[in-house]
Amino acid sequence: MKKKIAVFPGSFDPITLGHYDIILRSLKLFDKIIVAIGNNYKKKYMFSIKKRKEWIKKTFIDFSQIEIDFFQGLTISFCKKKNANFLLRGLRNQLDFEFEKNIYYVNNKLDKNNFIETIFIFSSYEKSYISSCIVRDIIKNGGDYTLFVPHSVRI
Ligand code: ADP
Repeated sequence: MKKKIAVFPGSFDPITLGHYDIILRSLKLFDKIIVAIGNNYKKKYMFSIKKRKEWIKKTFIDFSQIEIDFFQGLTISFCKKKNANFLLRGLRNQLDFEFEKNIYYVNNKLDKNNFIETIFIFSSYEKSYISSCIVRDIIKNGGDYTLFVPHSVRI
């Protein structure tokens, strides 16, 4: 049977307990999850791609099902390159829902032979307020960011 491979794309600037929760809960659905760090030249990141990768790698050191990679350009092109039939996304709230819905339809249009299916996983209630953006703000302002990120993320 064909392996179930999912791509979980994001900036992971830095990885948070919200991402961690989605990835761990999705492990039972897929044979492999590729955590794909996006590098959009228009975006300004707080942490280098090397640092973001290092943290994700350390976080999932004990999980052979999880692979880490980088990508630029269209997410669905990257999925095809990796032979991944599934695109994994997390949903926290209505804002995520509206945003993701449009991306879903666009991806479906672009993916002419329906190679990729998007799978949405709801955030756990107690992780639903966490975002990389909030974590970056806490870091900038000297707060205790460690409450919101995996143990491996230390500055
Ligand atoms: P992006 O650059 O796409 O915003 P992120 O790194 O912020 O990348 O998020 C990647 C994915 O993780 C998205 O599907 C996003 O909805 C999901 N995500 C981020 N934070 C959480 C959270 N706290 N709970 C569930 N999903 C989350």
